[in-house]
Amino acid sequence: MFKCYIGLGSNLGDREGYLTQAIARLDEHPGIRVLRCSSIYETEPYGPVEQGDFLNMVVEIATALSPEALLDALQSIENALHRKRLVRWGPRTIDLDILLYGDKMIETEKLVVPHPEIAKRLFVLMPLNELAPDLAIPGIGQTVGERLKKFRSVKGVRLWKRNCGAGEFAPFEN
Ligand code: ATP
Ligand code: MG
Ligand code: MG
Repeated sequence: MFKCYIGLGSNLGDREGYLTQAIARLDEHPGIRVLRCSSIYETEPYGPVEQGDFLNMVVEIATALSPEALLDALQSIENALHRKRLVRWGPRTIDLDILLYGDKMIETEKLVVPHPEIAKRLFVLMPLNELAPDLAIPGIGQTVGERLKKFRSVKGVRLWKRNCGAGEFAPFEN
């Protein structure tokens, strides 16, 4: 069993509904157990595409799946939740990325772990810091908390719904 962190994002339709459905489908998968969830953050999009704000969060899972099988499972869930790949970095109902897979470093054509943008993205580091502040990011040489402290401000990312169960699976409150 490996402990992994999955980054979730949605900026189309019922954003919170897509996050909730994706977490339920992850937990229903025979090879995946959802252990803890972060709070939900609202994030201004950046990049070349004009689009609505995202909801972002991170979940901690235990999995018996290989990294490639886990990626396949995430992509099946994205497809089942109407993810369309129209424009790169465009709006999407749900995005499921492998942020960390145990302490593995992987670089294949299909899969790069740790996720290459992990250290640059506040909308990943803020929710991840709730679950694993002392976790050292492989290849970066810093913990999640140390990395987060390097940011001067949290511009563009706001807490949207707090998880008040100290990371327990599901209990959200506005
Ligand atoms: P970003 O990866 O910058 O967040 P994105 O999530 O919008 O962009 P996608 O369209 O969801 O990108 O995925 C494009 C491809 O990225 C996938 O087909 C997958 O093979 C590849 N990929 C590489 N590393 C990862 C990873 N750690 N998690 C998920 N997908 C990955
Ligand atoms: Mg992504
Ligand atoms: Mg993705």
